[in-house]
Amino acid sequence: MNDRPLFIRNATVFDGTGSPPQPATSVLVEAGRIAAVAPARQLPAPAGAEVIDGTGRFVMPGLIDMHVHVELSGGEDALPAWLGTGVTSVRDVGGAPANLVPLRDAIDAGEKVGPRVFTYGPLLDGIPAIFGRAAGALAPRGGTEPDSLTWLIPDAATAERAVDELIAHGVDGFKLYAGLRPDLVRLFIERIGGRLPVTGHLSRTWASEAIEAGIDCLEHVHATIYQDIVPPEYRHPREEGNGFIPNYWTWLNTGWANADLGADYVRRFVELLVSRGVALSPTTVLITGGMATHEALEEPGLRYTPKGLADRRAAQMEQMRRMREEAEKAGTPLPPPMSLEGPDSETGVRARANQLEFLRMVFDAGGTVVPSTDVGAAPNQVPGFSLHRELALFVEAGIPAADVLRLATHGAATVLRKADEIGSVTVGKRADMLVLTNDPLEDIHATRSIDTVIKEGVAYAPQPLLERAVAGA
Ligand SMILES: [Zn+2]
Repeated sequence: MNDRPLFIRNATVFDGTGSPPQPATSVLVEAGRIAAVAPARQLPAPAGAEVIDGTGRFVMPGLIDMHVHVELSGGEDALPAWLGTGVTSVRDVGGAPANLVPLRDAIDAGEKVGPRVFTYGPLLDGIPAIFGRAAGALAPRGGTEPDSLTWLIPDAATAERAVDELIAHGVDGFKLYAGLRPDLVRLFIERIGGRLPVTGHLSRTWASEAIEAGIDCLEHVHATIYQDIVPPEYRHPREEGNGFIPNYWTWLNTGWANADLGADYVRRFVELLVSRGVALSPTTVLITGGMATHEALEEPGLRYTPKGLADRRAAQMEQMRRMREEAEKAGTPLPPPMSLEGPDSETGVRARANQLEFLRMVFDAGGTVVPSTDVGAAPNQVPGFSLHRELALFVEAGIPAADVLRLATHGAATVLRKADEIGSVTVGKRADMLVLTNDPLEDIHATRSIDTVIKEGVAYAPQPLLERAVAGA
């Protein structure tokens, strides 16, 4: 928090709520909160204020990334990278509560510089677990250890205990994971009882089943809703989805490439999603960032990969190399690395077009689609910059830029159930704002033209934050 008032003079202010941008507007911040938003000629700068000249500039709420993994993004090294790219809040949908809850609290107390972290606790997975198979190095240790990224939930009694323990830890929500079957998904949602929001990356449970059970949000347009959207002949048996199909991403791409979005079952699914008010956090950028495509590798922000994330990736590559070497020596060579049929392929191009079309269908039907990335878990992603690419993909899908900015701010805050605190440039809210040199309503890429990031009323220049991320905490 800043003791001095902060004053932005004479900017174009986009408040994030859906109102049109207001030209020649000033914003006053006192004690970390927005104290006034008014026409520049009516609102003078108070004596002693830190003044930012907003002339010719665009002011908007700080961005919210609705799908990250802080620990897998380089942990504390990633915090300045988010702030330096204008991401003032992140929703962590898979992290050990023993690490994430104290980190969240330290940031909120001003002891560490970083975005607000909303932690949805560990991945609550069924048996056999998905993540342990898909990513050997991150294999869950089992049980419900507070310092474990994945909690394995074999039965109803463990599920009920997990809910009580996580609420006692102080999590901000819940993340149900791909190995859970419908009975445990229903039980989790019942036990949580609306006290905190619940999201899901699902596979053994269909999205429609989770919606009927009362889930609040669904992750990954490619994966969680796959079974409901693709033609029946492309669906997989309930038990054999994520983590069990070799080359799963190619499988998903093939199904999506052959989707018939005019089908009745697709229309009914969109109706169900929208009528139940369930949000979609699509992690659209995985279309490009989950695979080594030209689009992902050309991301200029990759040079600002936080040290902890770069180190972890290097260690993973080294571990892979050693495993291959040893297998070779033992006379049991491993198969060649998984070849991902990415968006550069013909199938990938069709899958991408259908996924973007689906986002627009949900948007047009009045649904909530919130920008999100999966930074940390997916290769070729970098904190913050990947969210800017996500915003551009939303515009490519045909969602108007003003709506994309609203969904990435006030819309996301609403899904977090924090819209009374963050997500808009309106009186009383915490002062999380960006001052941009260019207008993102004209060109969405202008969200990258950040002159100043303001969080809780404290102004930061982006460049030193980005450099700090690269150097490491
Ligand atoms: Zn994830």
